[in-house]
Amino acid sequence: MLRTPVLIVGGGPVGLALAGDLAWRGVESVLVEKTDGAITQPKMDLLGPRTVEFCRRWGIAQQVTDCPYNPDHPQDNVWLESFSGYEFGREPFPTPRAEEPQPQSPVKRERCPQDMFDPILKRWVESQPRACLRYNTELVSFEEHAEGVDALLRGPEGPVKVACRYLVGADGGASLVRQRLGIEMQGKPVLTYTTNAIFRCKDFWSLHDKRKGYRFIFIGPEGTWATIVAIDGHDRFRFSVVGDETRRTLGEEEVRALIVRAMGRPFEFEILSIVPWVRRELVAERYGSQRVFLTGDAAHLNSPTGAFGMNTGMQDSVDLGWKLAAMTQGWGGPRLMASYEPERRPVALRNVEEASENLRRMISPRKHLTPAVFQPGPDGDAARRTFGDAYTEMMKREWFTLHIHLGYRYDGSPVIVPDGTRPPQDPPMVYTQTAVPGSRAPHVWLREGFSTLDLFGRGFVLMRFDPALDVSGFAAAAEKRGAPLEVVDIDDAQARALYEAPLVIVRPDGMVGWRGRGGDEGAILDVLRGA
Ligand SMILES: Cc1cc2nc3c(=O)[nH]c(=O)nc-3n(C[C@H](O)[C@H](O)[C@H](O)COP(=O)(O)OP(=O)(O)OC[C@H]3O[C@@H](n4cnc5c(N)ncnc54)[C@H](O)[C@@H]3O)c2cc1C
Repeated sequence: MLRTPVLIVGGGPVGLALAGDLAWRGVESVLVEKTDGAITQPKMDLLGPRTVEFCRRWGIAQQVTDCPYNPDHPQDNVWLESFSGYEFGREPFPTPRAEEPQPQSPVKRERCPQDMFDPILKRWVESQPRACLRYNTELVSFEEHAEGVDALLRGPEGPVKVACRYLVGADGGASLVRQRLGIEMQGKPVLTYTTNAIFRCKDFWSLHDKRKGYRFIFIGPEGTWATIVAIDGHDRFRFSVVGDETRRTLGEEEVRALIVRAMGRPFEFEILSIVPWVRRELVAERYGSQRVFLTGDAAHLNSPTGAFGMNTGMQDSVDLGWKLAAMTQGWGGPRLMASYEPERRPVALRNVEEASENLRRMISPRKHLTPAVFQPGPDGDAARRTFGDAYTEMMKREWFTLHIHLGYRYDGSPVIVPDGTRPPQDPPMVYTQTAVPGSRAPHVWLREGFSTLDLFGRGFVLMRFDPALDVSGFAAAAEKRGAPLEVVDIDDAQARALYEAPLVIVRPDGMVGWRGRGGDEGAILDVLRGA
């Protein structure tokens, strides 16, 4: 019989992040992963800026930046007939080495595919004494009771029983944990039946005249039919046959012929793997029970258009991480765990819908896609310009997504104290930082290399912008409740203006919980800790 405060099921990026975050907070956990952890088909490859902000907090951002993805590979998005045919448009993006952070964040997004990111997370988790990773070990069943959960695992040494206080299902789209809880997924179970193939070609960029890029979207007379992404910026590529709602199984020869169609002529390449998968728009109707919770793909599934899947899951795990720490360390109140669902589920609903809209834009029949687009000559050139410009304009929303990555909010959460103000009503492609309670606490450089975000993570942080205000009541109330609270004096006009109040409490996950001039300190802290 194994005992642990938290049992995490699933060692994908989201489960690993939770195990690491808990250990970083001093909480023990056991993570079980049914495979040996090897990634044959990397799925995710883009870490949005919020995920990189978490990595910065955990001390692994530099490893992400230094991952083996080619830092000199341009990240352009391109729409074209084929590599040997017409290019219709291009949204240029710098190489990872040249890209600078946006002003709203101390970090930039990073290209770090799953076969590079999972090992970084795994090394980080293994370097911490409080986390225990068990590969080749599967969750078979579990029973929840008032005090915790009894689980049955099957590992290399046979069956193992585990007693834990909390169980988290980070076990992906087919989540056994979700099924055992009887939780349904709501939304659209099938958007497309898609086939992905990873192929290797050493001299890929010398076979045609197109400039380098990250993502290539292939458009034929029938519309958008495939994409190719530079999965490592070197010689490996992911080819995706977009498909539709009709189930089709493509054999290797068919996939090979379609890759040749994308190149526009025969060429030498090696297919490394082929994986058929279903693109979905689904969110779990509930995010767990009293003692069992869902995170990542177990809770929501979306089209990869926009790169929101894992990034949304990382935010789930960070939300769960500090709450589970509060409960196991004894300072969390009885309502804290119940706040997980109202905080995270609306964000998933927003993100899966945005991903589907991105897909719709990518594959939608377009009025400017006339036969002339594929014809040589001046009429063809004019048709291509009209079509290309319209498509470029339409696709911008998928490429500029800071509002999705940083602008998520916990409005209406039972563990946030609202102050009656409203966040800026940004149009979809704009993100204005705000410290309205329920928002990600804004970034300001306080000194060279040190962001406001570097203050947050371990416990509550009370930011004091007016040194004349007495905060001893907050310190005493926190101590009485055993809740970690650090008071930080900030002497910075920009931060003062952005945070808009003389006192601001930022939660351990970096979200603004309360702001004001003062009040009933004990009552404020009780709301924040779910008491
Ligand atoms: C083509 C493609 C591109 C994508 N690109 C991006 C991107 O750029 N950015 C992004 O954010 N997202 C992207 N996504 C989505 C992203 O890959 C997923 O959201 C992410 O992998 C989810 O991580 P997870 O840890 O929740 O689940 P998974 O990665 O599915 O991991 C779940 C793990 O649980 C294990 N498991 C399952 N059942 C059990 C059990 N009973 N016992 C023990 N272990 C179990 C599985 O073996 C698996 O390792 C992409 C997806 C696709 C398909």
